[in-house]
Amino acid sequence: MRTPKNPKNPQTAKPRRSQTQKNISSVSARSDARRSEAKTTQKTDRSGVSARNAAPQHSEAKIQTKNNNIVSAKKEAPRRTGTKLTRLLAVAPAKIPAAASAAQSRSAGTSSLTHWLLYCRPGFEKDCAQEAVACARAQRPVLAEQPNIVADSGYAIVVINEQLLSYRELIFTRQLIRLHRTIDTLPERDRLTPILAALPPGNFGALWLEVPDTNDGKTLSAFIRRFQPLLEDALREQGRLLDDMNDSVHPSTGSGRTEKLQRLHIFFPDKASALIGTSDPYNSSASIMGIHRQSMPAEAPSRSTLKLAEAIDVFLDKSEQTRLLRSGMTAVDLGAAPGGWTWQMVKRGIRVTAVDNGDMKGAMAKHPLVEHMKQDGFKFAPRRAVDWMICDMVEKPAKVAELVGNWFVSGWCKHAIFNLKLPMKQRVSALDSALGGIRSRLDMEGISYKMIAKQLYHDREEITVFLTKTRNR
Ligand code: SAM
Repeated sequence: MRTPKNPKNPQTAKPRRSQTQKNISSVSARSDARRSEAKTTQKTDRSGVSARNAAPQHSEAKIQTKNNNIVSAKKEAPRRTGTKLTRLLAVAPAKIPAAASAAQSRSAGTSSLTHWLLYCRPGFEKDCAQEAVACARAQRPVLAEQPNIVADSGYAIVVINEQLLSYRELIFTRQLIRLHRTIDTLPERDRLTPILAALPPGNFGALWLEVPDTNDGKTLSAFIRRFQPLLEDALREQGRLLDDMNDSVHPSTGSGRTEKLQRLHIFFPDKASALIGTSDPYNSSASIMGIHRQSMPAEAPSRSTLKLAEAIDVFLDKSEQTRLLRSGMTAVDLGAAPGGWTWQMVKRGIRVTAVDNGDMKGAMAKHPLVEHMKQDGFKFAPRRAVDWMICDMVEKPAKVAELVGNWFVSGWCKHAIFNLKLPMKQRVSALDSALGGIRSRLDMEGISYKMIAKQLYHDREEITVFLTKTRNR
């Protein structure tokens, strides 16, 4: 589904008012304006009509007016919440010179642009957008300009033409959402009506209310928890929210695909704005906010253990976990100390050679399944081939990539999970060349493989890669 040329087009903003919508619009905010949204909505009488409450026409008119021209609206009346969002929403479509855009669109055989809302780790917005645009460009020329990014916001909006973005190919993207509408002036007393009016057509398998993964975003969690049931009830009343087992699709393998319906995402950068989009369960993260949380096991010797735990969950579906991580298997852990990654293997009954000049700690210091070797991980060669090589050494990505290539070409392991630490600058190109180096070596050797790379929730200035041999050509 494509977004219109201008996502804030008043034509498309015009709601069709069903009976249900009328009922919803009559939601009464009996509390005064100083009261919180939660208190207001909890005291709502859905069947009552309140003259004090924002009438639907009023709310709609407000959206339309603001959305007519978001830039001039900002100039005339800068608002508390406008800065970050308005800058983001003023992305490429408005910036493309009309003539050039139309001509380019004609030559590309398309007249519409697609807006994508991407969640990412705060601080990586530029990398996230840059990578997405590069993926689009690899398919066909990109008509829109580079997006306008707000640093440390935890999300980016990219505008491209009709290229499809693939969630699995995007390293920095935590969640991939097709952005349909934006509202930057949600009335404090009735956020529900304008949101319902702005929803894209169709039914939804799930409703996810989300906020940026930032400190500001965290302050909105209570608000969305209270708003969720209200919106959910309204959608169910309209028959548009159907339970569809969206969560069962595995993000990396796509297994468990039983559902068909898109998910509805309402993303609140702040309480007064909403970005409304949908995700395809076949092409997105199965976790809310794209965050796959792990709880810290008390016995593990380091928090690094969470990275490997998340990698296993995100990269391998349940059947692969059972098949590829079996008791009795063997692994080498390069840069193992103090032992968090080793612990993940050992807990699955896998025998580990832990290579590190540093000490193993806690239960991993003297475990019968662990052999600790104080050696340089870049020089270590296993006595015999192992099932797994895992590597968390802090080194340049190119050096780790070369090491991984050596292991696979030498036949020393079948599967690997490794971290690539990111440089301060040119992260996307550093990754491209590191991962590209592995690909070309394996291709040259005729080794078939599957490789997935992601910046996981528990990754900081790094990404995690899963590489597995499939079959020899
Ligand atoms: N994965 C570990 C865990 O879960 O506890 C943490 C690993 S820590 C981030 C990086 C480790 O890599 C350090 O213990 C360091 O000693 C080790 N390391 C760095 N360079 C190394 C090398 N050339 N050979 C072996 N170990 C190395």
